Amino acid sequence: MTDRHNASRRRFLAASGGIAALAAPGLAQAVPRAGTERPLPPLVGRSSETLLPRGKARRVVICGGGWGGITAARYLRQQVPHLEVVLLERNQNFFSCPMSNKWLVDVVDMQFLTKDYLKVSEELGYRFIQTEILEIERDTKRVVTAAGAIDYDYLILSPGIRYNYEAWFGNDLRAAEATRARFPAAYIPSAEHFRLKQAIHDFKGGDLVMTLPPPPQRCPPSPYERACLIASMFKQKKIPGRIIILDHKDGVRPIGPGFRAAFEELYKDIITYVPNARIEEVDPFRKEIRTEAGDFRFDHAILMAPHQAGDLAWKAGVVPAPGSGRPGGWADVDPLFLHDRNDKDVYVIGDAVGFVSPHFAFYPKAGHVANRHARIVARYIAEREAGRDPSYILPDNLCYMMVNTAPQEGISVQFDYKVNAEGIIEQSQMDFNERTAATVPEDFNWARLIYEDMFT
Ligand SMILES: Cc1cc2nc3c(=O)[nH]c(=O)nc-3n(C[C@H](O)[C@H](O)[C@H](O)COP(=O)(O)OP(=O)(O)OC[C@H]3O[C@@H](n4cnc5c(N)ncnc54)[C@H](O)[C@@H]3O)c2cc1C
Repeated sequence: MTDRHNASRRRFLAASGGIAALAAPGLAQAVPRAGTERPLPPLVGRSSETLLPRGKARRVVICGGGWGGITAARYLRQQVPHLEVVLLERNQNFFSCPMSNKWLVDVVDMQFLTKDYLKVSEELGYRFIQTEILEIERDTKRVVTAAGAIDYDYLILSPGIRYNYEAWFGNDLRAAEATRARFPAAYIPSAEHFRLKQAIHDFKGGDLVMTLPPPPQRCPPSPYERACLIASMFKQKKIPGRIIILDHKDGVRPIGPGFRAAFEELYKDIITYVPNARIEEVDPFRKEIRTEAGDFRFDHAILMAPHQAGDLAWKAGVVPAPGSGRPGGWADVDPLFLHDRNDKDVYVIGDAVGFVSPHFAFYPKAGHVANRHARIVARYIAEREAGRDPSYILPDNLCYMMVNTAPQEGISVQFDYKVNAEGIIEQSQMDFNERTAATVPEDFNWARLIYEDMFT
């Protein structure tokens, strides 16, 4: 238990009379803290306090416990046991976005997607702290959270994405908030997924519009999977719904022929695919969208604003400023070693990672890649702690998409990477467009193996 907790516990005991004999008169009712007029209850955290005092061990602080962060914690604990590993995450439970489309239509249950962070961390031997991260102070090597501040030797940022509502609404917070609340994208681990599930299960018929963000985006094939699975549910339940996909791109990618065949052969009367539908205006109050491909009204919508690196990447100062000449919106990292270009002690992993190659620009923003990045960065830190210069390691990616629920059928895509003679990362992509039942157990096997990798 930490000094802070001991101090808080002593105050609690004092307040409850346990060590009242040691306390000055009046202290038992309220404990004023330095710098505050009004007393705070003893366990209300303050961001200026030390969250975790320093022990002897060097410390890695991991910000964000999604697919990247939770894998990093597990591998660091295993590969560099002398380091103190601390995982900071706002949610109490891990929630997997991969496989969540299947949960939306009841192919898997909630248990399949969630894990208790505290339980996993206790089993694997790293420290998990559930708290909101507020600031990242690079000059003092401190992370400021709602529960106190914590310093680090190495920092790993795995913040995922944010929705760039500013691109649609400027500084109109009312429109952004209405969109988030009423027509959530459900692309970030949060209660949005429950809202969306409720909305599609309550849907009685009419037009359900999905806007797809421009690339780079989180898991590019997953909106098409979501459309297919919702269409499959409408078909089974005989709901007279139409799903209109407004795609920023000029065609379906990746696994384009596989998805197009599903749209045309399975959901001809349900799915309407509209390419080049770049957004001009979204009105969540009137339920109207203007695009370069025409105007649309909707009964319900899944409104996906453009994606960017999660807020924490901006707070950590790893996203280049506009006009800097570097690609904006995402973390500017060394493409091979994944650390901030000017700070080798700050790594970025997962979806927040920015431009890595002139050949394909960004790694696919996939949980599989986040898992691989985490393992790679853990290895780099292990090498550095052993006094060696790490050699680069590249990720791979594998993604299964279910397109039909009766019978269950899927398609998939695989990516591999290598460095060419000029030192540039190259990508090879293989699409498996044929819709097969055999893909489905492969998908579940992939999930089982990668969950085991993160949680055991
Ligand atoms: C519908 C859907 C289907 C998908 N399907 C697949 C698939 O089949 N295969 C695949 O490989 N990928 C898939 N993905 C993509 C996958 O979810 C992401 O690529 C992956 O989650 C990225 O991991 P990450 O660690 O970068 O971000 P995340 O997993 O989003 O983790 C970020 C974490 O940081 C936490 N956080 C952020 N800010 C703060 C803060 N201020 N304080 C505290 N905590 C904070 C968040 O709560 C979150 O837990 C899918 C995504 C979606 C939405």
